[in-house]
Amino acid sequence: MSSGAHTTVLDLNFPVLPAAGNLKVTTPIDGSEIASVQMHTSEEVEQILQRSQSAFEQWRQVPGPIRGELVRRFGNKLREEKESLAQLVTLECGKIIEEGRGEVQEMIDICDFAVGVSRQLYGLTIASERPQHVMHENWHPLGPVGVISAFNFPVAVWAWNAALAWVCGDSVVWKPSEKTPLTALACQRLFEETAADFEHAPDGLSQIVIGNAEQGAQIVEDRRIRLLSATGSCRMGGIVGPQVAKRFGKCLLELGGNNAVIVTPSADLDVALPSIVFGAVGTAGQRCTSTRRVLVHRSLHDEVFNRIKSAFESITPSRIGSPLEASTLVGPLIDEEAWDNMQAAIERIRPEAEEIVGGGRVDRDGCYAEPCLVKLSSQPEALQQETFAPLTYVIPYDTLEEALEIHNAVPQGLSSAIMTTDVREAEFFKQNSDCGIANVNIGTSGAEIGGAFGGEKETGGGRESGSDAWKAYMRRQTSTTYYGSDKPALAQGISFDA
Ligand code: NAD
Repeated sequence: MSSGAHTTVLDLNFPVLPAAGNLKVTTPIDGSEIASVQMHTSEEVEQILQRSQSAFEQWRQVPGPIRGELVRRFGNKLREEKESLAQLVTLECGKIIEEGRGEVQEMIDICDFAVGVSRQLYGLTIASERPQHVMHENWHPLGPVGVISAFNFPVAVWAWNAALAWVCGDSVVWKPSEKTPLTALACQRLFEETAADFEHAPDGLSQIVIGNAEQGAQIVEDRRIRLLSATGSCRMGGIVGPQVAKRFGKCLLELGGNNAVIVTPSADLDVALPSIVFGAVGTAGQRCTSTRRVLVHRSLHDEVFNRIKSAFESITPSRIGSPLEASTLVGPLIDEEAWDNMQAAIERIRPEAEEIVGGGRVDRDGCYAEPCLVKLSSQPEALQQETFAPLTYVIPYDTLEEALEIHNAVPQGLSSAIMTTDVREAEFFKQNSDCGIANVNIGTSGAEIGGAFGGEKETGGGRESGSDAWKAYMRRQTSTTYYGSDKPALAQGISFDA
């Protein structure tokens, strides 16, 4: 891709790029430098945190539905800028343009959802055990929310958090991945344009911290950040989780996955195969929900392996290339480190493999990997780790009980799927999958915003986006009122005659 084309994309609608800075931004499309931005100093981060606290004090007073109106307008702004922002997402993180558009659509969807939530911040009325008492559950704004995000969903993850946080009455401080600061600056710009015409929005309602783990750590450790929502590797979560716990803050962790699809003898393979292939190679295997493991009933092991192999071979090399081209299905890995990790994982598994297909490098600038498929006879220790690349293992099983054992025998618990036409198998799977997501006849990848998103075990236990995930962004209060005029009764029937 020519540097001229980069300029065209960057010029579109985002005059957000400072001339020079100490953080170089490269595009995975060809590895070239496209900008440099300035990382915030610790003094600047402190000012951002102060502004966030004072924005929260003002914003919490604004009624929920009015807060929702700001989010509605922001969603409309995103609709206007969808194509430009999608192009920037693709340029900066390398996902194919169709997925770039999907990511911005996800931002629009969560804004719509949050607008509805802004009128539904309900608490319960609870039956009291005492006469003339009434119990209520109240939900109050929580405080400044810190969002730390990963490179592979550079804008949607922030929107999932921010749209809900805003309607819940919270301010937001966002530290995007150091690999994708431009999309964050673009989002901040769009938010500021929206907020400028909205009289109720205080300064500092949404702010960005540009930096790496160092700036991230300052947010993590700050007591003013009442909720820290961190998306990234299990390694990162293992560091930030205890730090937030130490200061008694709230944490919402969205960490790595190691997702599997189970293919049963009753599966309709014409339904199963497209989902498995998209899950394995979509976003070049760089989704937290990417399909890493395919657990296949032994009677179908060869057939399923061969059909995935044919699909991979039909993609390689003609459909691997620039993510800005409409015909491309597999774009680049984010950087050389990702390529090295993929190669190291292939070498680790080689002694155990019955067959390995693909995994080579496509000859062009940038890190373009051929999707790799590995046929195994069992699940070795090496599969305990997530490899963030298009690398998929096919493993046989004999009984569904055994399939679930293999499925659950990894430390992560994000997304899972079963391919079956048998309702008993489907229900057994849902009961026994230990993941936060358990799909039937669709793949592990590609969640809608309406459900709560997240996973168990080392995936971190967080839930964000739909369902009642908004509750994480508020403070729950139980309130008991006595409206009688006699001496009030004590709970549990305790008698205390003073
Ligand atoms: P990463 O862990 O390297 O970085 C994620 C973010 O954490 C970055 O912003 C980084 O600067 C920050 N960070 C790293 N160390 C930190 C520290 N000590 N203190 C504070 N901040 C710190 O992850 P990545 O390579 O950007 O993304 C890929 C990983 O993210 C994969 O493991 C993937 O599965 C996971 N992921 C999970 C979800 C989910 O919803 N569960 C979504 C997207 C990505």
